[in-house]
Amino acid sequence: MPGPLYAAVDVGGSKILLLLAGEERRLVMRRLLPTPERATPEAVIETIAGALDGALRERGLSSRELAGLGVCIAALLNFESGVLYEAPNLDWHEPIPFRELLQRRFDCPVYLENDCNAAILGEVTYGAARGHRDAVYVTISTGIGAGLYLGGEIYRGSGGFAGEIGHVKRFGKGRRCGCGSYDCLEAWASGKGIARSAGVLWDEDDPETGSLNTAAIFDRAGAGDPLAAAIIDQAVEDIGLALANLVTLLNPSCIVLGGGVTRHQAALAGRIKEKIERYAVAPAVKISPLEVVAAQLEPEAGVWGIYAMSCR
Ligand SMILES: [Zn+2]
Repeated sequence: MPGPLYAAVDVGGSKILLLLAGEERRLVMRRLLPTPERATPEAVIETIAGALDGALRERGLSSRELAGLGVCIAALLNFESGVLYEAPNLDWHEPIPFRELLQRRFDCPVYLENDCNAAILGEVTYGAARGHRDAVYVTISTGIGAGLYLGGEIYRGSGGFAGEIGHVKRFGKGRRCGCGSYDCLEAWASGKGIARSAGVLWDEDDPETGSLNTAAIFDRAGAGDPLAAAIIDQAVEDIGLALANLVTLLNPSCIVLGGGVTRHQAALAGRIKEKIERYAVAPAVKISPLEVVAAQLEPEAGVWGIYAMSCR
């Protein structure tokens, strides 16, 4: 096969997405694998390595011929050291030298990046934020997180933990967040937070009510249910307020909204934009124009971002 070959992987709590691509995003293989039942770091790495070895062998190649491997993951991690500190979806809560473990298995350069950081790089390079030097990717999904791209580079912060906008406070009252604190944005306004709010209002065991997942609450709100509408309105208000503060602080020219909730609710980006325009400092939305747009590469923004990083 002519030209270098890159592997890009997005490790999620239930699925692992794996791409094999040449230069210029020439896709050779796309594979979606289940995350191992007992998802130890070693088991995840073996899953990735096994699938890659198999795919390369089918093409008469070996992993020696890989020019780069990029892995993104929803985790608190340090890009420089490659140490991963916390990956809630995988139930990893101790420091793991994850990049080193990957590097032992592969001879090529290995990159390990937070999924939102990878996603903003993907959207800036190939998607909705092309041409922007100051852009933010925000995922509204089970959780809420952000990837910051400032002055033409990913901004990671001193320890690698920048962008954790899901844990800004204080919203609602008295709800514990997955991070251990109380009343973070994501405890109330993420997909899971919205479903939790609904669970308080409706009896989940009532067959009339049915399943109260996030999509069902949006449906009810759309059909005119005032309680459902109030929950959604509050979530939009909270997200809008948090992002307005981010705009006031960082003055980006583009906010890219991604994640499962945004993907299935087309009207959400416009509603959030209205809130940002209301609450952010005026020059940051009026003098310098601010685009608030849906992600274009979803749900593959992260994997294409880590691909972009690997083949630089
Ligand atoms: Zn939190």
